[in-house]
Amino acid sequence: MEFFHLADELEKIKQQNLYRHRRIISSPQGVEIEINGKPVINFSSNDYLGLANHPDVIKSFKKATDSYGVGSGSAHLVCGHSHSHHALEEELAEFTGRERALLFSSGYMANVGVISALMNRRDQVFEDRLNHASLIDGGLLSGAKFKRYRHNDLNDLQKKILDREGRTLIVTDGVFSMDGDLAKLPELTSLANDKNAWVMVDDAHGLGVLGKTGGGVVQHCGLTQQQVPVLMGTLGKSFGTFGAFVAGSEELIETLIQKARTYVFTTALPAAIAEATRTSLKLVIADSWRRDYLKQLVTRFRVGASQLNFQLMQTDSAIQPILIGDSQKAVEISEALLNRGFLVSAIRPPTVPKGEARLRITFSANHKEQQIDLLLDALGTIPQ
Ligand SMILES: *Cc1c(COP(=O)(O)O)cnc(C)c1O
Repeated sequence: MEFFHLADELEKIKQQNLYRHRRIISSPQGVEIEINGKPVINFSSNDYLGLANHPDVIKSFKKATDSYGVGSGSAHLVCGHSHSHHALEEELAEFTGRERALLFSSGYMANVGVISALMNRRDQVFEDRLNHASLIDGGLLSGAKFKRYRHNDLNDLQKKILDREGRTLIVTDGVFSMDGDLAKLPELTSLANDKNAWVMVDDAHGLGVLGKTGGGVVQHCGLTQQQVPVLMGTLGKSFGTFGAFVAGSEELIETLIQKARTYVFTTALPAAIAEATRTSLKLVIADSWRRDYLKQLVTRFRVGASQLNFQLMQTDSAIQPILIGDSQKAVEISEALLNRGFLVSAIRPPTVPKGEARLRITFSANHKEQQIDLLLDALGTIPQ
């Protein structure tokens, strides 16, 4: 056993203030949750529209278990692809303005599966330095020549793209998960066009929140399937359920069905999750008040936090980080806030670069203005 030296390794992680613990939640997901029996106001969830515990979504889930039970029994290509999955894929294609969509069991799996299905050793993949870990892993796993460019720096990207045989794929988060800022997609897609490259956008944090009907960053920027041939979205965030999808051309989706190993070799999502998601998709489209109200909350927070002289990032998205720098300090503030009844996560390396530890504050359409004010009051009492 001791050959692996796990205890030493764990001790080292502790000394670097990077040790992670799980909190045990004993309530449904929402703006007020219960941690170890104690109620807290939640500013850490990605349930931006407040649909994870929506009565209509729950009702659809329960009803679908009457028709389909719980387990899907096998992969989509064997006997796990139900009518509910199929209908959801068609609705997601229409929602995103793409020819087709394909469900994956998680966003992580979608990203790993897509990049490695499309790219191989002859090809080149370029990724923003702040892309989500699953995109980075997908790029590395594909075996393609892999380069990261400076965050949102298109000059750096342009310099790195070499004319060579094979395919070129540029991959970016739509809304960056730890900074909350948007990718410069209009410029990026035009650069890609000049270089005969494809663009893949992971819009985990833009879908539902940005765009007139919640179509995310591609709707916000008006980008077509031709400009962004590979669009990936997750269902566990704004949609409040679970899973992910990729949307694009007929040929892209058929290629993924044949070749994406994380699609072929895994059990399909439960059909009841697909039914619940069909209902949350309807709510995402119809309830534009959720997006409008979320924006209002973000503005209220930004005005208050800048009066307190906190260092905010340039973004109006539902992700509002406060830069702290030192990992230990970020953890201490997060703990102090928790003692006062607020759940705000401290994000540390390796999730963010060294020296850029931060509090990651996220908002939900279910928050009340008064809860934002209470958070600001609590932040105001913390020594900086
Ligand atoms: C959450 C997230 C993922 C992973 O999605 P899961 O469905 O949670 O596996 C991928 N990309 C980004 C940008 C994310 O924020």
